[in-house]
Amino acid sequence: LSPLDKEQLQGLNAIRDFLKVRTSYDVLPLSFRLIVLDTELLIKKSLNILIQNSIVSAPLWDSHNARFAGILTSTDFINLIQYYCQFPDEIGKLEQFRLSSLRDIEKAIGAYPIETVSVHPSRPLYEACRRMLKTRARRIPLVDVDSETHKEMVVSVITQYRILKFIAVNNEHNTVLLKKTVRDVGLGSYTNLATARMGSSVLDVVHLMVNNNISCVPIVDGENRVLNVFEAVDVIPCIKAGAYDDLDNSVGEALCKRPDDSPGIYTCGEHDRLDSIFDTIRKSRVHRLIVVDDDNKLKGIISLSDILKYVLLSGVEDTSRWS
Ligand code: ADP
Repeated sequence: LSPLDKEQLQGLNAIRDFLKVRTSYDVLPLSFRLIVLDTELLIKKSLNILIQNSIVSAPLWDSHNARFAGILTSTDFINLIQYYCQFPDEIGKLEQFRLSSLRDIEKAIGAYPIETVSVHPSRPLYEACRRMLKTRARRIPLVDVDSETHKEMVVSVITQYRILKFIAVNNEHNTVLLKKTVRDVGLGSYTNLATARMGSSVLDVVHLMVNNNISCVPIVDGENRVLNVFEAVDVIPCIKAGAYDDLDNSVGEALCKRPDDSPGIYTCGEHDRLDSIFDTIRKSRVHRLIVVDDDNKLKGIISLSDILKYVLLSGVEDTSRWS
C-alpha cells in the first residue's frame, strides 16, 4: 500500500469504528417533530400534508391494528403515476385511493413491494447503514417498543443524508485523511447515464427513473452541459392537484413548481478529493453530486448511496457478507 492508500484506509476504518459505537438515537436532534400519517388518509390529502410541511416522506400508522405500516415516499407517487399510465380509465379511482391502497397499487402495476425494514434506535448506526445498503432503502424508520404497552412506536426516520451529515460533522479529523480523488476510487456512475432535456415530458423522465431504478435524472442541453437535475421528489408538486394530465408538460415547467427552499444542485470535478466532498456534505444539504468537467459538461453522478457504500465497504475483503 502507498502512504496515500494507508492514510485513506486509516480514515475509513476510523469512520467505521465511529459508526459501530454510535446509535441511530445519536443522530437525532435533541428536539424534533415527527409527522406520522394514518393509513386511512386519502392519498391526495397526504400529498397536501407533505407539501404544507415541506417534507417528502412520512411513516405510516395502521390505527386498526395499532401497528407501524411502512413509509410513504416519492416511490409511492411514482407508482401512482405508473398506475395512471397503465389504467388511464381509472382516473376517478385515483381520487379515492387511501394510503392503505398503496400495496394494491404496487401489485396492480407489478412493482416490487418495498421491504418495510425498520431498525431499533439503540442499535449501532453501522447496522442501520448495512441495512440501507442491503435493501437499497434511502430512509429507514426507527421503531421501538413501548415497555408498558408492548406496542410498536415510531421514533423517527433516519436517512442516508442524515447519516452522512452526522459522519461529516463528527469526523473532520478522519475525513481529512481521505485524500484520494473521486476518480482514483471510482466513486459514482460514469457510463450509461440517463439524461433528459428541458423539453422532455415529466412522464418520460419518470419512466427513465423507473426503468433504471434511479432517483434523479440530470437535465442537459444539446452539448451535454448540465442545466438542472430532476429528482424523484419533484413529482410531488406535479400531481398534487390530481392533474395527472399535466405530466405531459415539460420538465422545464415542472421544475418551476419546486418549493423556494429546495436545496439546489451540487457539482464536483473528477479530480476533487473525498475530503472536499465531505466538506460539502458538512456545510450543505446535498442529496447527490453531479460530476462535471470545466465546461460544465456531464461526466458522472455520485449518489449518497455510492458514498455510503464506499465508506462502509471499500477495502473490506469479503463483500459477500454485505449483500
Ligand atoms: P440513491 O440510492 O442515493 O437515492 P440513486 O437511486 O439516484 O441514488 O442511484 C442509484 C445508483 O444509480 C447509484 O450508483 C448512482 O450512481 C446511479 N445513478 C443515479 N442516477 C443515475 C443516472 N441518471 N444515470 C445512471 N446512473 C445513475
